[in-house]
Amino acid sequence: MSFDTLGLSADILRAVADQGYSEPTPVQSKSIPIILEGNDILAGAQTGTGKTAGFTLPLLQILSSRGQNNGHRPVRALILTPTRELAAQVEESVACYGKYLPLKSTVIFGGVKINPQIATLRRGVDILVATPGRLLDHVQQKTLDLSHVEILVLDEADRMLDMGFIHDIRKVLALLPKSRQNLLFSATFSNEIKRLADGLLNSPVMIEVARRNTATELVEQVVHFVDKKRKRELLSFLIGSQNWQQVLVFTRTKHGANRLVQQLEQDGLTAAAIHGNKSQGARTRALANFKQGAIRILVATDIAARGLDIDQLPHVVNYELPNVPEDYVHRIGRTGRAGNEGEAVSLVCIDEHKLLHDIERLIKRDIPKIDIEGYDPDPSIKAEPIQNGRNNNTRQGRANRPNHGNRAKQGTTAKRSSSGNNRPSNAAKARNNEGTKRSDANSSRSTTSSSSPRRSHNAQGRERASLLGGGNR
Ligand code: AMP
Repeated sequence: MSFDTLGLSADILRAVADQGYSEPTPVQSKSIPIILEGNDILAGAQTGTGKTAGFTLPLLQILSSRGQNNGHRPVRALILTPTRELAAQVEESVACYGKYLPLKSTVIFGGVKINPQIATLRRGVDILVATPGRLLDHVQQKTLDLSHVEILVLDEADRMLDMGFIHDIRKVLALLPKSRQNLLFSATFSNEIKRLADGLLNSPVMIEVARRNTATELVEQVVHFVDKKRKRELLSFLIGSQNWQQVLVFTRTKHGANRLVQQLEQDGLTAAAIHGNKSQGARTRALANFKQGAIRILVATDIAARGLDIDQLPHVVNYELPNVPEDYVHRIGRTGRAGNEGEAVSLVCIDEHKLLHDIERLIKRDIPKIDIEGYDPDPSIKAEPIQNGRNNNTRQGRANRPNHGNRAKQGTTAKRSSSGNNRPSNAAKARNNEGTKRSDANSSRSTTSSSSPRRSHNAQGRERASLLGGGNR
């Protein structure tokens, strides 16, 4: 199938051709004609499927064909996204696919000054991409009028709900005209999403392009069992020995991300962290440097990484497994995008066997276990509860055992584990893993960023407090 058959105008097709896309992806070929007919849609599509163009192309077509008011330019399409990074990327796509059209777009999100956004809005914008919190700030300041919105897009709606945006979304919905077209995109369909969809969508057409909660098949997944204390060493070893040039590494906490960056830099590797405590400028800079190859490793927390679109990202490393199994699917979806092959490596310590088990149950398959010579876990180390955002440098750090690092560095051989032991331990069963996701999302205004592993109790207390406050606006 080609793009020409979907009913898009020549100006839009030219912009698509400029991107080098020859064929629509499945979500595009399904959603574009349905949206052009004016239907509401409920689309189950994960990031990486081409969903952004799936809603952007028909949206541009509809707005440009309806013409616009002379003089005053009200917002006619509103696209809500969970994170700043995703908002910025979506707006880039809108500008890119709409470059031959007389439509104006802009993006607004928190963490940056509001005044330039006010000035841009005042000059008139047809398509607005926004995160919910900052959008409401504008509404409150009366710098934004949403009463002319014709099309509403909720992108990654499940993520917005995960991040606690449901009340903000409902407030925004109340500000929109009753008669409008609604497009809801979500990777998963929880009951909460269904409730939101029921109240929002008008006889929607359902579109499902990827099986729910399945890890993308293009991604080769592997687990290396390793002691927690030796993960950093193994990561540096893998990057160096296999000459990985662009690696996205996930940690569970912001503090862990900072500490890992410092350690990797000590190993002579270029790295930067991207998480909710970083200023918007620092996040944008880190991403740009990573995309350009100026830094080799980007260390990210789940929320910060959501929606990152880095073309042909070859390696994703789960330095720590996520507390929520669905986040594993999102993480590995950063690689193997748009038809490219990718590799997702998970470094799993004894504390994380239960998390691994939950992930394998969700994706309904065993992830191959490969032992790296010299990094076999020390069987005397017992599982401990995972402490999120706190200093967990405890028993493993004190374990008095031989250092296998030198041995490992002599050989790069990997051998497939016969046991693949991933049974949950009792201690692992007892752990309490909740809280990180929302915490990370809501801590963007916090000022605590201590990265020393030997912080005082006060510092730890401050970080805990900061995890509970703020807002990702
Ligand atoms: P998305 O799921 O919207 O985040 O898109 C994932 C990636 O696919 C982005 O890098 C897009 O630029 C790319 N992409 C979108 N549409 C196509 C297409 N028809 N052919 C090839 N790549 C595409």
